[in-house]
Amino acid sequence: LLSLQDATVRFGGRAALDAVGLDVAEHEIVCVLGPSGSGKSTLLRVVAGLQPLDAGRVLLDGKDRSGVPAHKRGVGLMFQDHQLFPQRDVGGNVAFGLRMHGLPRDEQTRQVGELLELVGLPGASRRAVAALSGGEQQRVALARALAPSPRLLMLDEPLGQLDRSLRERLVVELRELFGRLGTTVLAVTHDQGEAFALADRVLVMRDGRIAQSGTPLEVWQRPADAFVARFLGFEN
Ligand code: ATP
Ligand code: MG
Repeated sequence: LLSLQDATVRFGGRAALDAVGLDVAEHEIVCVLGPSGSGKSTLLRVVAGLQPLDAGRVLLDGKDRSGVPAHKRGVGLMFQDHQLFPQRDVGGNVAFGLRMHGLPRDEQTRQVGELLELVGLPGASRRAVAALSGGEQQRVALARALAPSPRLLMLDEPLGQLDRSLRERLVVELRELFGRLGTTVLAVTHDQGEAFALADRVLVMRDGRIAQSGTPLEVWQRPADAFVARFLGFEN
């Protein structure tokens, strides 16, 4: 479904992405781990079309989409800092994704209700976004990203501000949901447990490169190098 070839992004003299090659198969759930500044968000923004490449290509379904603007890529993205519309209520934010699909209003209302229930905010549709806690806003952003059911969904720390019990519940529900919808997912997380529970495959990034790519078990049992081992918390 998705293929990156030699994807390179430079800021000043520094490569935020350094000739990254990556293939993601349809229906695959890939979680991206790595220290702060290793290029995780840049990777997602490149695929979404929000960050132009200095070199290399982004292919979707085998076609070069490098020059295609974000809104025409059919790719969903949830930002690290969620960026909700403050002037719209919760339901208005979630429906934003649905409206682009031109659904009738009562069908929209029903789907918004379902999505809010899924993220643990049942009945919150009429609430003002500004009056929500950070974690509640994050859940609204997640519901909005899920709303258009994109084939390829990119999530940047989707559960970062939520407490552990809610995160654990959502990870299980999201995995089930993505499986049911057949959604292909590329998700950044700093939580290894979350990555290992959600992912079919884990990527560990370092300095704009992919230090390791493998199933959660492979990465856990056989870290590719000392950096990955240390990052995962092993002593040596
Ligand atoms: P974090 O875990 O903190 O979110 P990250 O892995 O998502 O980190 P990126 O946001 O992809 O890291 O950034 C990778 C590198 O590129 C960093 O060194 C960052 O400072 C730099 N960078 C990212 N965006 C910009 C920008 N718009 N202008 C200049 N430098 C940038
Ligand atoms: Mg980031």
